[in-house]
Amino acid sequence: MSSTRITVDHRLRHPEKAARPDNPIQRKPAWIRVKAPNHPVYHETRNLMRDNRLTTVCEEASCPNIGECWSQRHATMMIMGDTCTRACSFCNVRTGQPDVLDGDEPARVADAVAKLGLNHVVITSVDRDDLADGGAAHFAAVIAAVRAAAPATTIEVLTPDFLRKPGALEVVVQARPDVFNHNLETVPRLYPTIRPGARYYQSLRLLDRVKQLDPTIFTKSGMMVGLGEARPEVGQVMDDLRIAEVDFLTLGQYLQPTVKHAAVADFVTPDEFADYASLARAKGFLLVSATPLTRSSYHADADFAALRAARAALLAR
Ligand code: SF4
Repeated sequence: MSSTRITVDHRLRHPEKAARPDNPIQRKPAWIRVKAPNHPVYHETRNLMRDNRLTTVCEEASCPNIGECWSQRHATMMIMGDTCTRACSFCNVRTGQPDVLDGDEPARVADAVAKLGLNHVVITSVDRDDLADGGAAHFAAVIAAVRAAAPATTIEVLTPDFLRKPGALEVVVQARPDVFNHNLETVPRLYPTIRPGARYYQSLRLLDRVKQLDPTIFTKSGMMVGLGEARPEVGQVMDDLRIAEVDFLTLGQYLQPTVKHAAVADFVTPDEFADYASLARAKGFLLVSATPLTRSSYHADADFAALRAARAALLAR
């Protein structure tokens, strides 16, 4: 791809980042490499997403796991359009003014979930600060449609923070997803540069409030490492999440999508991830996934089964 094309693409997808200086993209270490997608089921999944006019975070965020996940029909649908009203410096999702909500989307998501035959589905969204409820009612409509079309499928939502949207969280919780996921993404010190439109304590409170509203819903949160955080800061975030009674922690390596995004500060080694996982387990999470390629929705179906088993074992003690 030529440098001219890269510049044009940045301007189209991330106009707010176009004037930023370039951060050269570092070569990935051997433990980050993934195979190019070419499995026939990958193409079936891709065609179904196209046929149902669905957007996926797998594609929009340039997820490195897409070959593996889509070969197992595990696509994470991103509802409410492909354009986000925030402008996080780590994220490759297009930014700008989104379109009006599509009232048919819940039915198309539900149809795709039924056709994929999923045991567990993860549904996420762009941030919709432009909507009075942040898109909460649309989330609830999607959950209801999936329940009707695929009653045996368990549902995980990965939501925005609903900052300054009073009552929005309650609408999503009342729709009773099996897992409520909201990512803290990074340590509080880095919020002004990495997640400038968000507030650390708003995100933490959101997770805490889910448990207060409905303790039966599993809560989950994730962080990226490799953005310049220090190990004690990661430990502090784990403590904060445990105080909010979050059940499941995911930790993965940040990868820089383009030269206009935040630079990778370091590639955390698999051994360091194993140390983080031990630390998190010692702090009491029911489940921890911490590897370089861990993402919020990576292996979410198997992890949900493990999460349920871990809770049952805890209650049986
Ligand atoms: S890890 Fe999640 S976002 Fe990435 S390809 Fe898999 S399902 Fe999609």
